[in-house]
Amino acid sequence: MKDFNNLLELLTYFKDDTVCREYLEAIRWADGITCPHCGSSRFYKFKSGVKYKCAANTCYKKFSVTVGTVFDSAKIPLRKWFVAMYLVTSHKKGISSYQLGRDVGVTQKTAWFMLHRLRELSENGLEKLTGEVEIDETYIGGRERNRKISKKTGVQGRPTNLPPVLAMVQRGGGVRAFQIPDVRGFTLTSKVFENVADGTRVMTDGFSGYYMLRSRYSHESVNHSNEEWVRGDVHTNTVEGFFGLMKRGVIGIYHQISPKHLQRYCNEFAFRYSTRELGEGERMNVALGNMNKVLRYKKLVGKK
Ligand SMILES: [Zn+2]
Repeated sequence: MKDFNNLLELLTYFKDDTVCREYLEAIRWADGITCPHCGSSRFYKFKSGVKYKCAANTCYKKFSVTVGTVFDSAKIPLRKWFVAMYLVTSHKKGISSYQLGRDVGVTQKTAWFMLHRLRELSENGLEKLTGEVEIDETYIGGRERNRKISKKTGVQGRPTNLPPVLAMVQRGGGVRAFQIPDVRGFTLTSKVFENVADGTRVMTDGFSGYYMLRSRYSHESVNHSNEEWVRGDVHTNTVEGFFGLMKRGVIGIYHQISPKHLQRYCNEFAFRYSTRELGEGERMNVALGNMNKVLRYKKLVGKK
């Protein structure tokens, strides 16, 4: 796989749509070309080199490498997708649809569509977090003064129309972030169970919602309401740093986000954070590698 250190190298390498297409084919069809409709490995290739036709007599459908992926769009050239993907993954706080539209030469509306599609490439990883994991929850997009309403008196209203977000950060590793319906103990705990390996050392603040974590983990907490922020190596500074980045991004770049799309923003920020040690090109390759995962997931849930 190719690595790119900057935008100029990317543009030079991906000089046209053919190069982009071959690159996608090499990743998606690393084990050979298969029909995205039926999975058959018998096919005809059209002269153009772009389209294929399935040779299974129960199918015979036409396809290209982008069918069923986030890049499946007749109107947007692959090269624009690649530049957009680079820009999205390399800007720490994200990029607005206005800016992206100007940078790649599409309308703001198209850029908005592209950004949502690209967020699907940054889905949370599947392996459970382990080692030392910090866990915290917050409201994104609300004013700072209203943070952590759940933990204080519980009487303040919600600062925002957005549901809360739960994040788990493995120190020196990846992060998972999820939109959650509420901050009840059961909700928080079951999400953690799904994403953190048993026996892991987990750290939270003193919120009672995390009480049940001790059933599976070595759980330690710092009591913020007693002005205790750090005790030895027990703290939640890393996960709070992640929330800080996400809030600055949402407020500074995206301004307002709708509850419907909150999880996608969680994925976008978690993906960038989790791949922060990688080079720009490597990070893009990881996102491209998710192309197949997205496809399988869509097949599972029966959406196109
Ligand atoms: Zn087929």
